[in-house]
Amino acid sequence: MLLYYKDVTPDDVAIVSPMDLGGLRSDEYLAVNPQGKMPALACRDEDELVPESDTIARFLGGKFDSGGAFAPPAGSTLALKADRLARHHDIYLAPIQGCLYKASPAGQAYGAFPTRAAALDEFQAQLQLIERYADAGGPYLCGPEPSQADCALFPTLIFAADMLPKFGREFTVGPITKKWFEMLKTSDPIGRRIYEEVHGALEGWAAKGRWDTIHGAGLRDAEATLFDKIVSGDIPSEKVYEDDLCLAFKDVAPCAPVHILLIPKHRNDLSQLRKAQPEHVGVLGHLMAKAGAVAEAAGLDDYRVVVNDGEGAGQTVFHLHVHIIGGRELSWPPG
Ligand code: AMP
Repeated sequence: MLLYYKDVTPDDVAIVSPMDLGGLRSDEYLAVNPQGKMPALACRDEDELVPESDTIARFLGGKFDSGGAFAPPAGSTLALKADRLARHHDIYLAPIQGCLYKASPAGQAYGAFPTRAAALDEFQAQLQLIERYADAGGPYLCGPEPSQADCALFPTLIFAADMLPKFGREFTVGPITKKWFEMLKTSDPIGRRIYEEVHGALEGWAAKGRWDTIHGAGLRDAEATLFDKIVSGDIPSEKVYEDDLCLAFKDVAPCAPVHILLIPKHRNDLSQLRKAQPEHVGVLGHLMAKAGAVAEAAGLDDYRVVVNDGEGAGQTVFHLHVHIIGGRELSWPPG
């Protein structure tokens, strides 16, 4: 986007897909950006390799301009505004953006968030915060001229606007941000060009079914389960424990003096144990870690923890749950 604003020609900067270098994990690409992430810039004249869009934008902004919004003098208000928004993008939005497209990442792939739902909540909250730093006078994020803040945030917001609804989420930003987004999308020639490129690519991928395989995209797998309704309070229950991730309540048809069900609050496609994906590792570990504390709080010394997986094994509610059973002699093998 910055290159378009500056009318930089392919003679000055050649845009090359990482695929032409063998992909993001190829030795050739990793030699340019050891993080294996886009973008990266290789400078012929300076003999320098530059990762990180913020650094690249500042460098190109200065190199192809004698001043203005892309290379504001250090210490100026414009530099402050543009830096603040570009950093907001790089620090608070970009690291969790994977929750909008990654299929089933392991571990900390959504930043510090254990589930896609939690990362999406945070992503939506950070989108709202753009409003706090945006220039109310516009038309660009930092005032009358486009800056690196527009270039960092606009493509990400196009992506967010397209992808959030696929997870049953609304793309909501503050009124100044919305006005700016619509202005770039509809009446700024470079903004329109970027919108067509990004949105067009996303539509092309959608047509090829690329997003259909994203595990946990929305609640496509099923309608609200009985246990979703217990979590929302639509169906009453006798709660015995609750935290951000899980809920424990008494089984309505106990098979022992103590019979408690422990469930993830956000089902996130985890209808049964066999559906477990790397992104569920955090919540599954949490259930196991809490089962003992719930049993202890119920006064149990010895108890059994059971997960029925599949109808033939007795599963009747397809929202993963752990039975905590005790208070009587428990025979083995179980029936
Ligand atoms: P499973 O057979 O492993 O799928 O376990 C489902 C459990 O949910 C059974 O033990 C049921 O008795 C229990 N159950 C069904 N409806 C309710 C409810 N409204 N409140 C509490 N437990 C329920």
